[in-house]
Amino acid sequence: MNIQNFINGKFENPISNDWVDNYCPAIGEVYGQIPNSSKADVEHAYQAAKDAFHNWSQTTLEVRSRILIKISELLEVNLLRLAEAESKDNGKPVNLAKAIDIPRAASNFRFFGNAITQFASESHESVGQNAINYTLRQPVGVVGCISPWNLPLYLFTWKIAPAIAAGNCVVAKPSEVTPMTAHLLGEICNEAGLPKGVLNIVHGLGTTTGQAIVEHPEIKAISFTGGTSTGAHIARVAAPMFKKLSLELGGKNPNIIFADCDYDDMLETTVRSSFANQGQICLCGSRIFVEASIFEKFKVDFVKKVKQLKVGHPSESTTDIGALVSKSHLEKVLSYIDIAKDEGGEILCGGNRVTLLGFENGYYLEPTIIEVETDECRVNQEEIFGPVVTIMPFETEADVLQMSNKVKYGLAATLWTNNLKRTMRLSNQLQAGIVWVNTWMLRDLRTPFGGVKASGVGREGGFEALRFFTEAKNVCIKY
Ligand code: NAD
Repeated sequence: MNIQNFINGKFENPISNDWVDNYCPAIGEVYGQIPNSSKADVEHAYQAAKDAFHNWSQTTLEVRSRILIKISELLEVNLLRLAEAESKDNGKPVNLAKAIDIPRAASNFRFFGNAITQFASESHESVGQNAINYTLRQPVGVVGCISPWNLPLYLFTWKIAPAIAAGNCVVAKPSEVTPMTAHLLGEICNEAGLPKGVLNIVHGLGTTTGQAIVEHPEIKAISFTGGTSTGAHIARVAAPMFKKLSLELGGKNPNIIFADCDYDDMLETTVRSSFANQGQICLCGSRIFVEASIFEKFKVDFVKKVKQLKVGHPSESTTDIGALVSKSHLEKVLSYIDIAKDEGGEILCGGNRVTLLGFENGYYLEPTIIEVETDECRVNQEEIFGPVVTIMPFETEADVLQMSNKVKYGLAATLWTNNLKRTMRLSNQLQAGIVWVNTWMLRDLRTPFGGVKASGVGREGGFEALRFFTEAKNVCIKY
């Protein structure tokens, strides 16, 4: 099936008529094409957004809110169709897309549809000077949203919903690897009555279409989620134009397990935080540090549980681990398993490509646990972004804190302990934007979301996102 750009409420071929293949990772075959949109397509999308901006930014909050909530409802109505599309494009189990990806995309619209009605700004009375200041929060204008392939509709809508709730018009690009649900979102936005031009979706490669969005001088803010090196490149391009930038980048998150934790709960959650979505979640706890006194027990129990995970076709209901997103990504992940062996890591389970009967060309990989001798090895320092975790023991709280923080990333950390004082000490000192204690990926959409160090700049979520997508203007009135 061929996908088209969604500009000004209409589906259109790219002006250049340049197309790229879209693969189904479960079978390793091309099943459609998407536009490789050029500067001219981005300009066309920008003009549509610009023309829609005045009316949309003046639309009452009640009406904006109602449209966002309608989009949310239609996402729910189309749950199965969207989940199947997501799974076909990405390789993730349909069940996972049904339980997580699509419901969360619907929540994003519902949440920001509600949040915008509660978003308030401040006023400051200048006492003794007969003056009052108030802050206007005005939409930025036309903004760019660029998202990755791992949680396609989930992350695409996480940007678009607050942007349009705040009165902006959007030029958005999903990952070229997973374009399908973004395409379906266009149809849903029309059905929900979102005015033409408020959301425009251009498809294509990062270096072509993404680059054209970032380079466009009138697209005043860029909200980007993706790899750290792409984020650094975008920052270099955008900085001389003084664009607002929100960058959600890579991670190499520690999962710190103390002997006093609730063991069974920890074990079950650790399987999930290691391998959910084939380990392709920026928040996965890919470095597991276990207190030495329970290390051997954990090792045996963890390996046993992980061996029970079923690698299978994403549409089968018994599948735990689907396909990796692309051939090149599979090769990258496999190359890290080789690096681990060269570095003296011990593969405790997994490590091999899986060939499924009937789907021999699919991109399947066994969930892999590597015991490492030092936290400084490459597999412990570099983002692999697949079903691969490292484990190693630690002796003291000070040691594990030091190892946890000794990576260039700082997105999330997970801590398993029932010791309150230790929880407080470590939560304060871990270099991360999010610390989960005795849980993982439990999300409340009002909370600030983002990373420190090479994991990004800025925060999404709740009013943080609405602040990003608005400019604060102070008005001072003397009376
Ligand atoms: P990527 O950086 O390759 O691509 C992300 C998006 O950027 C895609 O839409 C791509 O087409 C586009 N892009 C690429 N080059 C561009 C350029 N020069 N200009 C503009 N756009 C460009 O990342 P990916 O491989 O799609 O996603 C995986 C990465 O995303 C991992 O590093 C992961 O940790 C990260 N991620 C981070 C978060 C977070 O919230 N911090 C969430 C999910 C994924």
